[in-house]
Amino acid sequence: MEITAGSHVWVEDQELAWVDGVVTSVNGNEAEVETINGNQVTTKLSKLYPKDMEAPDTGVDDMTKLSYLHEPAVLHNLAIRYGIKEIYTYCGNILIAINPFQAISHLYDTKLMDSYKGAQLGDRSPHVFAITDVAYRAMNNEGKSNSILVSGESGAGKTETTKMIMRYLAYLGGHAAAEARTVERKVLESNPVLEAFGNAKTVRNNNSSRFGKFVEIQFDARGQISGAAIRTYLLEKSRVCQISEPERNYHCFYLLCAAPPKEIEKYKLGDPKSFHYLNQSSCYELVGVDDSHDYLATKKAMDIVGISVEEQDAIFRIVAAILHLGNIAFALEGEDSSVLEDDKAKFHLQVAAELLMCDLEALETALCKRNMVTPEEVIKRSLDPLGAAISRDGLAKTIYARLFDWLVKKINVSIGQDPDSKCLIGVLDIYGFESFKTSSFEQFCINFTNEKLQQHFNQHVFKMEQSVYQEEEIDWSYIDFVDNQDVLDLIEKKPGGIISLLDETCMFPKSTHETFAQKLYQTFKDHKRFVKPKLARTEFTIVHYAGEVQYQCDQFLDKNKDYIVPEHQELLSTSKCSFIASLFPSLNAETPKSGKFSSIGSRFKLQLQQLMDILNSTEPHYIRCIKPNSDLRPEIFENGVLEAIRVKCEGYPTNRIFSEFLERFSILAPEVLKENVEENVACKSIMEKVGLSNYQIGKTKIFLRAGQMAELDGRKAKL
Ligand code: ATP
Ligand code: MG
Repeated sequence: MEITAGSHVWVEDQELAWVDGVVTSVNGNEAEVETINGNQVTTKLSKLYPKDMEAPDTGVDDMTKLSYLHEPAVLHNLAIRYGIKEIYTYCGNILIAINPFQAISHLYDTKLMDSYKGAQLGDRSPHVFAITDVAYRAMNNEGKSNSILVSGESGAGKTETTKMIMRYLAYLGGHAAAEARTVERKVLESNPVLEAFGNAKTVRNNNSSRFGKFVEIQFDARGQISGAAIRTYLLEKSRVCQISEPERNYHCFYLLCAAPPKEIEKYKLGDPKSFHYLNQSSCYELVGVDDSHDYLATKKAMDIVGISVEEQDAIFRIVAAILHLGNIAFALEGEDSSVLEDDKAKFHLQVAAELLMCDLEALETALCKRNMVTPEEVIKRSLDPLGAAISRDGLAKTIYARLFDWLVKKINVSIGQDPDSKCLIGVLDIYGFESFKTSSFEQFCINFTNEKLQQHFNQHVFKMEQSVYQEEEIDWSYIDFVDNQDVLDLIEKKPGGIISLLDETCMFPKSTHETFAQKLYQTFKDHKRFVKPKLARTEFTIVHYAGEVQYQCDQFLDKNKDYIVPEHQELLSTSKCSFIASLFPSLNAETPKSGKFSSIGSRFKLQLQQLMDILNSTEPHYIRCIKPNSDLRPEIFENGVLEAIRVKCEGYPTNRIFSEFLERFSILAPEVLKENVEENVACKSIMEKVGLSNYQIGKTKIFLRAGQMAELDGRKAKL
């Protein structure tokens, strides 16, 4: 649309993201704009977006009703709605949820659940219940599995949304009789248990999930919940030993430190400030959270999901043991050996050994020494203090990760799977795209996940668009969609992708992160999605769909190796506590092909592929969560709502029922109305008169390309 003096436009603003104003003059390809906050701005014409002056003041509940689908229009609409506490908005059948950061009264109560039951999408105001209801009904009516994919950056509200979905499903598919309600109760109570062990305070979210989760809820032929399975992905292990200001370790550590005195005494705990794994950050308490209350609540939830009192004791004994392990400090002895630093270290070693029910000396040796196998004999080699500390942290991380996996397995066994279930609803709560100052292997895996899901999303939105076009019988054959297959190839192609190269590097004993980086630079020097940053020696950049991320190779090799020190394995598999011993089944029985290299990267890739296979066999529904800031601008923009819109814009983002179109634009060609022709012919005449092509006329609607609506409005304004 031509922008001239007097045009109402959106202009980019440092603080507000976008501000609206009126063009006062145009000079070549530059324009002067007077903004509503009284500023005079000079900017390139190409940076201005037309403002829809006919958009309703209260916003629209479905973004596809907007005449202009560009970034400022979309954000403005969300901001208006957020202002009136409408946190949900549709974009077609995608639900956008903006985190309100406060409880909104009655937003999730039973009365509201009642009102969404059986309602058509769009009949009632947008809501997570509405999407869930559609999924549930589709499952019942068509006998097909459905899934609900919740995405968004950290703190955007994915987990809270997921819990609402599960609550609503339990409401729809719950059992009337109290004694039959155990399945859905277990499903719901699995959340607080997993959160206690898998969530932590981070910079961006006080209750950040440090693992991905896919919950599969199974239904019987009558639509009642008959079983469930929880799959988790890639828990952030490093947090157990290393935290930085102002974050916290996993909640369970603080909960246990706030347990009743009897437990504190039993586990020899005390002030969290006295534990190295907790005192690396000065944040111990969370506003609005009472750890001692949550300790009891977690135990209650553990009761409900079927974790016995003995198991609970073993679990918290392990949590306490990890804290004590962390306080075992080492000092240099001789040239390169280590000993326990002082009496304090000795005390914690002793307590850790007691709690883990293993031999004290064996524990010390496992921490400070390594076996060197030579053809003749096995020699015990000493580790220096740094090596011993790394060994200790490795042990703590492995124990914690195995404990977490045990919890997931136990919950699954306890809820039970329904082998006869034909239909399920899957709910995915997975980490959003991440980019930090130093992004490492974890971010690499997380962003890989997001690329996979993005591809799924693109294909799905594209398919949905297609079906609308087909319904209206318009030609859609030439519409392309943005494809990120090239990034996925870069990461996961076998052989030759980054994950493959990483595995190869890990198997080669002499390699280092430097040789890995060199290999990447050589292999991908001409790849469009791979960049070697200037002067970089061990960093590489991937051009993700959501933007560029620079990865630091330093720890890729270590983090990729799925490896437990044999001495640690040996020690714990012989623990007198059967619970602990069972977490470390003897290696030979577990892995017949022992010695075969197993990598986290490849395993994660496989898990993801299995997830995609499940998702592909379901009818997906999408919820995009957004974390607002003062200007409602999601931090990583393309990762949010706009992606859906971008896919839409490839086709015909705007459509209007003929009569609506005529009402708005017949003024551009008043003569057509007099001719008493069919509505579709009248629409065509208007478009021809204005000189627009490339639009399409369907059975009941006219389909416009991006920008055409604005062009029509522009013409109208000039009349
Ligand atoms: P992460 O990726 O870090 O796990 P997340 O997207 O899962 O983040 P949540 O933990 O769901 O984010 O939400 C963060 C916080 O925002 C919640 O602890 C809660 O305080 C608030 N919140 C989220 N959604 C809602 C809601 N619908 N109503 C009220 N508060 C909410
Ligand atoms: Mg979460």
